Amino acid sequence: MANAQEVYRQMEAWSRETALLSSTIGVLGWDQRVMMPPRAAPHRANQIALLSGMVHQRMTDPRVGEWLAILETSELTADPESVEAVNIRQWRRTYDRMTKLPNELVVEFARVTSLAEKAWEEARAQSSYALFKPHLSRIVELTREIAARLGYEKEPYDALLDEYEQGMTAQQVEQLFAPLRQKTPELVQQIRSAPRQPNSSILHRHYPRPQQEAFCQLIAERIGFDWQSGRLDPTVHPFATRLGPGDVRITTRYYEDFLSPSLFGTIHELGHALYELGLPEEHFGTPMGESVSLGVHESQSRMWENFVGRSHAFWEHFYPLAQQYFTALQDVSLDEFVFAINEVKPSPIRVEADEVTYNLHILLRFELELALVRGDLQVDDLPDAWNERFESYLGFRPANDAEGVLQDVHWSGGLIGYFPTYTLGNLYAAQLFEAATRDLGDLPAMFRKGEFAPLLEWLREKIHRQGKRYTPSQLIERITGLPPSAEPLLRYFERKFGALYFHADGSE
Ligand code: ZN
Repeated sequence: MANAQEVYRQMEAWSRETALLSSTIGVLGWDQRVMMPPRAAPHRANQIALLSGMVHQRMTDPRVGEWLAILETSELTADPESVEAVNIRQWRRTYDRMTKLPNELVVEFARVTSLAEKAWEEARAQSSYALFKPHLSRIVELTREIAARLGYEKEPYDALLDEYEQGMTAQQVEQLFAPLRQKTPELVQQIRSAPRQPNSSILHRHYPRPQQEAFCQLIAERIGFDWQSGRLDPTVHPFATRLGPGDVRITTRYYEDFLSPSLFGTIHELGHALYELGLPEEHFGTPMGESVSLGVHESQSRMWENFVGRSHAFWEHFYPLAQQYFTALQDVSLDEFVFAINEVKPSPIRVEADEVTYNLHILLRFELELALVRGDLQVDDLPDAWNERFESYLGFRPANDAEGVLQDVHWSGGLIGYFPTYTLGNLYAAQLFEAATRDLGDLPAMFRKGEFAPLLEWLREKIHRQGKRYTPSQLIERITGLPPSAEPLLRYFERKFGALYFHADGSE
């Protein structure tokens, strides 16, 4: 019988080498989205396809199953929180997910979604759901087959959600989201009929791009971004990606007639980047060196973007500088600016939504995709279901399908079960921010002085350095003392937007 320690070392080397290959694909992908000239596309697709095939082959190598069988019965798994036990557990999870799906199904899904993405672009441009419908039907069909192959206890959706938020079920998400569904539409109503309203037109004055670039760099740096370990570049669709230890790339977009996208896009992606930079480098290439889940990842970006970056205290520190960078802000007071960047205003488009209405967009998508996967809703009836539910949550119907059911790329790419992680991120962020306040004291007082290191250090210790040691729910409960809940987010909304909209002096 093989020595478990030896097998473990072999498997660790296999895992790290696979990560070297994957991160090389990451470099090619970053270049493709940020730098690559258009004519390079076919060659780049070949490069990525070749390397992806190599990664897939390594991940499904039958030796992996043999190694795992030895490791799982060894003393290495005795303490479930040890580095070895965590890695073995997560290697098993990935291996099972990859080997449970027959190759023909994987290939067919890739073919169908690739065609669907093209059809979706066309359908959205023409606002024609009919063009996208047959593709979506096929995707839902295949997704149900994938869920059946992966296996689940209660319902197919659980198998899909587990991919992005390990251990979370549809039922748990429904329970977590219920208070938001109950209270948010009324809160939005109150806010919209409040006597004070912000003047958001000040954000649409002329903001020269060079100044925006310099100001975004300044903010990123002061929060804690290290230019020796990362870059900030412009793209159409902002994202963050880690290419390896000491190399995290973020992007943002600039509009000269709208200040918010570059600023808050930068801070949002910075939040993702700080998480990736805080992962333990010595575990790179193994699950212990990876982030927990999409929801927890989003909690980091949302915390920096909204809880820090849209707070009054943050701008008490940065606003005098902003006024130096942007002449357009010289006649705008600090309070006017903070009110404008926090305007609550229902929009048909999810990515343009404010903090409060954003979760209603997610709720709607979650409920519809859950019904599609269950078979309770037919693809034919999706646009009507979308519009009806949208009206009941946000008070009006989208003007057309391009502004409604066709607005997101996710479903065309086969990402069903992904949307809930956005709102989970908001819930976790609020709960973690309360815990950080309890541990560290007056955070706004620190932000006012430009001190972000205490919060960043706290996040590093509690979350970033833990890698995949716990499931998302376990992690939240360990840090905050309570399982995930919507209450902290609702408390935060009442306090923050109550102060902005209902107290003339903006006090909380
Ligand atoms: Zn994000």
